[in-house]
Amino acid sequence: MSIFQNYIDGRWASSDAATKNINPSNTDDIVGEYAHADKNQADAAIAAAVEASKSWRYSGIQQRFDILDTIGSEILARKDELGRLLAREEGKILPEATGEVVRAGQIFKFFAGEALRVQGEHLKSVRPGVEVEVTRGAVGVIGIITPWNFPIAIPAWKIAPALAYGNTVVFKPAELVPGSAWALSDIIARSGLPNGVFNLVMGSGREVGQAMLDDRRIDAVSFTGSVNTGGVVAASCSRRGAKYQLEMGGKNPLIVLADADIDNAVACALNGAYFSTGQRCTASSRLIVVAPVYDQFIEALKSKVENLIVGDALADGTQIGPVVDQRQLDQNIRYVDIGKEEGAELLCGGELLERETPGFYMTPALFTETSNKMQINREEIFGPVASVIKASDIDESISLANDTEFGLSAGICTTSLSAATKFKQECRAGMVMVNLPTAGVDYHVPFGGMKGSSYGSREQGRYAAEFYTTVKTAYVGA
Ligand code: NDP
Repeated sequence: MSIFQNYIDGRWASSDAATKNINPSNTDDIVGEYAHADKNQADAAIAAAVEASKSWRYSGIQQRFDILDTIGSEILARKDELGRLLAREEGKILPEATGEVVRAGQIFKFFAGEALRVQGEHLKSVRPGVEVEVTRGAVGVIGIITPWNFPIAIPAWKIAPALAYGNTVVFKPAELVPGSAWALSDIIARSGLPNGVFNLVMGSGREVGQAMLDDRRIDAVSFTGSVNTGGVVAASCSRRGAKYQLEMGGKNPLIVLADADIDNAVACALNGAYFSTGQRCTASSRLIVVAPVYDQFIEALKSKVENLIVGDALADGTQIGPVVDQRQLDQNIRYVDIGKEEGAELLCGGELLERETPGFYMTPALFTETSNKMQINREEIFGPVASVIKASDIDESISLANDTEFGLSAGICTTSLSAATKFKQECRAGMVMVNLPTAGVDYHVPFGGMKGSSYGSREQGRYAAEFYTTVKTAYVGA
């Protein structure tokens, strides 16, 4: 089996070590072997990005548009093949995986356009005869560190704006799922970028990731991942004064009020809590339901959850794929046990499941009779496990929704305009959804959260410019 290599300074670079990429739907299936970069390769990638930054920051916007547009076109043209790869390596079902690939292509197309629309300001000075110009320029070298759960969309929404605004990139994807990241890098490598503008270093977070965080030549770090690693990124970057942006976990609430369309509320809960095997930072893990519809809601949701088809991510008809790996599966089952020990009622699921092939399968779990104080409602599980919490009215629902250290996404199901308005105003989350699942966002508007979920400026849409550009104020005398 040939080894997929790292990409440094415009060349594919071999490594002494490699990592096997294992299909979580069938652990006998090896998706590929991927080179394992070390500190020296991280150093070479950073050096290349620094050198390339000297000219790329002044590159023309038509050139940037053309390159990003080319990348987006190839991703879209190969959506089926790349979708299969993604489903095979991450365990997301094929329609979701293909949708994620399409999203990555759309993001490159969007930022191709944004490269043309960088704006500045021209003001009069308070001093006669002096003019003031405010312009946005590239930050420099961006370190991009991504998680395994959206292995092409998250890299896309960081790499595309970085390049669009004239930055160079050192990209470290999650070691667990390197295939989609490598395929994206291969497309970028053939897009016409000058050598060194984009570099891929697949390797462990502790070695390669940490080397990037500690290197003064990296001007800014965009990170998505767990709260713990986010803390490491923050500490390392602030120690050396680098700009950084963190997207981390969630414990997202979905409120169901008495006037809700219950069928839609159940559909929102099912989608938000269980699709993508619950492995979304925007997953609805806390379902806050008011007493008058509590029994009706959980009965309807239980029957849907029990009927979800769990299986091979590539098989027709599968609705829920496997968990990504053994470690995450163990974590999910441990939380199911914790929930039971805490006194929550496990209404269904939460068990290991055997399928035709060896894989990391479990039945989606639904807890009822839970309180917001329970560990299962305080900590991010990151699996197909959701809890229902009973509330008396909208005020208590919003207060429970806000009683968390996270604040990424939150939803409400109601037919009342005033209830929806109150929720949008009072809910402490970066993204609030009305009669929609907490997961599922657009790419042309800001993405990000409040409190412990995010730090720094928002990602995606035009707001991405805040992170990937730096502002300069020029005073010009007569
Ligand atoms: P991790 O934090 O474990 O890893 C994220 C990335 O950080 C990986 O590339 C990892 O490398 C790297 N990393 C690990 N240690 C270090 C270090 N010391 N220095 C630099 N980099 C390091 O998260 P997961 O991959 O397990 O992803 C799951 C988590 O991500 C969940 O908690 C989820 O909530 C969160 N997430 C948040 C999203 C958001 O936008 N808010 C979106 C998606 C996920 P490696 O794995 O190769 O060791």
